[in-house]
Amino acid sequence: MSQIDDLPPLREVIATHGLSARKALGQNFLLDLNLTARIARTAGDLTGADVLEIGPGPGGLTRGLLAEGARKVLAVEKDPRCLPALAEISARYPGRLEVVEGDALQIDPLAHLTPPIRIVANLPYNVGTELLVRWLTPPQWPPVWETLTLMFQREVAERIVAQPGSKAYGRLALLAQWRTDARLALSLPPEAFTPPPKVSSAVVHLTALPEPRFPARADILERLVARAFNQRRKMLRSSLKSMSPQIEDHLNAVGIAPTDRAETVSLEGFCALARALEAE
Ligand code: SAM
Repeated sequence: MSQIDDLPPLREVIATHGLSARKALGQNFLLDLNLTARIARTAGDLTGADVLEIGPGPGGLTRGLLAEGARKVLAVEKDPRCLPALAEISARYPGRLEVVEGDALQIDPLAHLTPPIRIVANLPYNVGTELLVRWLTPPQWPPVWETLTLMFQREVAERIVAQPGSKAYGRLALLAQWRTDARLALSLPPEAFTPPPKVSSAVVHLTALPEPRFPARADILERLVARAFNQRRKMLRSSLKSMSPQIEDHLNAVGIAPTDRAETVSLEGFCALARALEAE
């Protein structure tokens, strides 16, 4: 195993700064720097890119991002105990790491970065999903970021890349796949983390498409998909009844049987239906 930098090993950093993992903050740390460098590489070519990292913790992934050549890393961390450890990384990479203490759900530092921008995070699962949805639904498309490289529980990662007909297919898959190329980049067993979580994890890499895969108005598509999957066991003619009195006609016109269920309808089908509703 090669050394990615000359900073102390992460176990030592954690001991020096008393960073015992806190469950309430979803702290499961990655201590293998070769692994964090590998995750950083899945984010693509970092040289010449600004990176927004959410939840750097003791800085394992941060060190990977800097060692892989990120022009600048802006890291948002909620736990103030981590700041001294992150300051040591900052000193090792002068001018390239800026740390902001705060809750990533409350602050949006994207405006402080210069394109090309890549977002990378190993976050607690609920925070990660909420941020993913926000990053996928900006006021304008294309977004300011080019790629998202995010760690999730394996089950959530599967929902992001799911295809029609599978149990995992739903709102998250449609939201992600409408405007990005989403792929499962890496699977990690619980033992990769300290302390190990209960379930496996996976890194998903999403690349923003210049424009949506199929035309549709974002607000209509989002409402449609939310209604359809809210009652995923129901036939579409009943789960979507509240969208329009003519929903059966629209479904037939775009080639979807009104008796079908949401999980059998493709992204293209949902977009066609959103356009039919818009034209009503
Ligand atoms: N990136 C580090 C790693 O890979 O070892 C730490 C990952 S740990 C799963 C999640 C990190 O996110 C913790 O450092 C935690 O304090 C931080 N965190 C949790 N909620 C946050 C929030 N709302 N905003 C910013 N950071 C948060």
